[in-house]
Parts: sequence; C-alpha cells; structure tokens
Amino acid sequence: MNLTSPKVVRDLLERYGLRADKRFGQNFLVEKGYLTKIVEAAGFTPGETVYEVGPGLGTLTRALAEAGAKVVAIEMDRRLEAVYTETLARLPVQIIWEDALAFDWASVPPQSLFAGNLPYNIATPLITLLLRSGRFRRMVVLVQKEVALRMTAQPGTPEYGLLSLRVQYHAQARRIVDLPPGAFFPPPRVTSSVVCLNPNTKPDHPALFRLIEAAFAQRRKTLLNALKAGGYDPEKALRALQFLNLSPKVRGEALSLQQFEQLLVRIS
Ligand code: SAM
Repeated sequence: MNLTSPKVVRDLLERYGLRADKRFGQNFLVEKGYLTKIVEAAGFTPGETVYEVGPGLGTLTRALAEAGAKVVAIEMDRRLEAVYTETLARLPVQIIWEDALAFDWASVPPQSLFAGNLPYNIATPLITLLLRSGRFRRMVVLVQKEVALRMTAQPGTPEYGLLSLRVQYHAQARRIVDLPPGAFFPPPRVTSSVVCLNPNTKPDHPALFRLIEAAFAQRRKTLLNALKAGGYDPEKALRALQFLNLSPKVRGEALSLQQFEQLLVRIS
C-alpha cells in the first residue's frame, strides 16, 4: 500500500469513515521524497527503536519500520486504531494511546532517537519537553516553517526568543528542507520544514530558563524593565548589565545564550 498517494489516503479515510481532524492537526504527508528524507535523517541502525509522535495513518511509522527501525508511536486519536490493522500489520510497531504532552518522556532510555510529523498546535511545548527530557541523541521533526525559523534563530532577529534559546541550550539544530502545502493531504495553509536536532547531554537549567522567560515575557520592554516585572532585583540587574558591558536600554532579543548565562550568575 502506497500511503504517499493522495488517492490512497482519501480512499483509506473514506473506507474507515474518517475525516482529517483539524483539532488534532491532521495533515498527512503524501510526498515520498520528503518521507525518505525524514527516514534518512533519523539515522538509525537496523533494529534500533525510534520514538514517534502522531503516526496519523501510519505513513512515517511504516516507512521507518520498513527501513528496519522498531517504532514506538504515541497517538491520541483512537479512531485510527482500525486503520493500523491495515497500514501497520505485521510491522514492529508499538502504539501508545496517549497525549504526547502527558507522556512520561523520562521513561525513555538515554540516547534514543525521535522522528515525527508533529501536530502543529503542540509542536513548541512538545519539542521543549523532548529536549528537557535529555533522552534523545537525535530528533527529526516536521514543523511549521515559522517554528523552524524560531528554533534556529540567532540573536537580534525577529524570530529569536525563548524557543531559539531552548534549542540552542540543548542541541545543534539544522533546518534541512522546506515542504510546500501540497506535500500534505489535506494541505495546510503554511509552508513546513524538517529540522534535525542533535542534542547534547546538558541537564535542564530551570533558573536560566526562568530568567530567559522573564526577559521575553514582554518583548517591547527593555531587558531591565522586563526583569523588574519578572520579580528580579532591578539594582542587581542594572549592575549585571554594566558588568557585561550591555546598555541599560538593551532588549532581551540582543543577548546570546552565553550572555544570559553570565547574566544569571550576576543576578542571582
Ligand atoms: N505522521 C503522520 C503523517 O506524516 O502523515 C500524521 C501527522 S499529523 C500532522 C499529526 C498527528 O498527531 C495526527 O495523527 C494527530 O492525531 C496526532 N496528535 C495530535 N495531537 C496529539 C497529541 N497531543 N498527542 C499525540 N498525538 C497527537
């Protein structure tokens, strides 16, 4: 069965009395070339486990399994259970019926692999959870291009913010390819991108991210005012900025990850 054919997907949905559900961000990938790119980027050895979120009709799941991976896939839409008896039959796939945001990612073995065409409405919190879990050595995610740009943004750009710093802190990230709406059925309104992340083994740093969150909570404010609003001592904050040779008028978006780390040391 060729799940990358829009006709096959349409027939499958019809036969099982299903409709792509917007609430679940259901846009199914129907371009084989992009599917192959994701499978290649996942970089598993035969028999290795790949974790996936949102298998949908099982398109990526099946491609991963056929290429030799064992797949553990987390899906929330129980209506899809019947479809898998057909699309994932006899493949080494385990489905966990759960909200991926509620799944215990700490239970995953260290150095695991992840691949997923993510439901766009939960992409940012999910990527944050996956990175914070410290369980993955590589993650390949298909997200809205806008999210991909935020993930890979550098200081001083409009896309730079909390997500960019979260990604930079935990991983090296590369946007590897953009996908037009027509690569999906039904087509979404936006362009999408595949991002490949190679996480390091640094543990989460809650105090640092509290500071970064406060810095970006009100983007229009100066960093000093944003920190004050976030409950930090304004005098300490001013002295810290002076020590780092930063203007008292600087905005959070101008600071690199390293500068935030230095700021935290001076402000605590
Ligand atoms: N992987 C498939 C593909 O490439 O064609 C489908 C991807 S579709 C963009 C997103 C999938 O995530 C849907 O199957 C949807 O039901 C599922 N989903 C949505 N929210 C979820 C959640 N919170 N936890 C787990 N799965 C979710």
